[in-house]
Amino acid sequence: MVVEKRFISNDGTQRFLLRLQDGDFIESVLIPRHDRTTICISSQVGCGLGCAFCLTGQLGFTRDLTADEIVSQVLLMLTDAASRFSVVFMGMGEPLQNYDSVMRAIRFMHDDHGFRLPMSRITVSTAGLVPGIERLAGEAIFPNLSVSLTGVTNRSRDVLMPINRKYPIEAVIDSVRKLPPPRQKRVMFECVMIKDLTDSIDDAETLSRLLRGMRVKVNLIPLNTAEEIPFQRSDRETILRFQESLVRNGTATFIRQNRGADVSSACGQLKNRIRVGSAL
Ligand code: SF4
Repeated sequence: MVVEKRFISNDGTQRFLLRLQDGDFIESVLIPRHDRTTICISSQVGCGLGCAFCLTGQLGFTRDLTADEIVSQVLLMLTDAASRFSVVFMGMGEPLQNYDSVMRAIRFMHDDHGFRLPMSRITVSTAGLVPGIERLAGEAIFPNLSVSLTGVTNRSRDVLMPINRKYPIEAVIDSVRKLPPPRQKRVMFECVMIKDLTDSIDDAETLSRLLRGMRVKVNLIPLNTAEEIPFQRSDRETILRFQESLVRNGTATFIRQNRGADVSSACGQLKNRIRVGSAL
């Protein structure tokens, strides 16, 4: 694996376009923060889930990455990372579709002979593959789990995430509800804030009802817009109202800060673009 190109954002975020041995390309992102660095890695070449708001989904699926290829992304970026870093599987691909290689890579990263990374600094993000969540529940080690609900009704999820027709939102939330409390506390539900589609107060109240009694957190992600995506980002006031409604109902809710959008490295923007931003 070699770095084909590196793009550096005005906010310090770096997007790496990586060429694999067989000539395929993937992307990884390095996000420096004041106290630690986040390394965002890919688990597949492209992605077959075809979410309507995601540029990676438009690439389609080529193949799963091996555990070596997953770990190599971290090794490549470690030279630029601070000593304190976290790894998130939020790059290209659905990690739970490549379950065995992802878990092999996680075990290595956590191991004393690997990176000795605490499990609290590894996050797997899923579009809601219920069998994968159930399998993860039975593992001896458990990473943080980020579940992309995107929309909070089956109506909006059917439009945005074709996988919802197989695993509707109630089944996804139920699979998290069954986790023992210490594991449930490490789950973050993510909602993408899309104007007039996912951002109404009714949606916020629906989500509060679905999450009643659970000890999870919610992350609101303002949509990263692109020419190829037929949706608009919700305005700031609407997102704040959505957050207030959830907090009032007892759910810890955060708004994600967009990083690296000027070099197409923000969530859902990874599309092997080679001409955006300043390259090294
Ligand atoms: S959002 Fe995630 S699961 Fe959906 S198409 Fe994009 S990479 Fe795949």
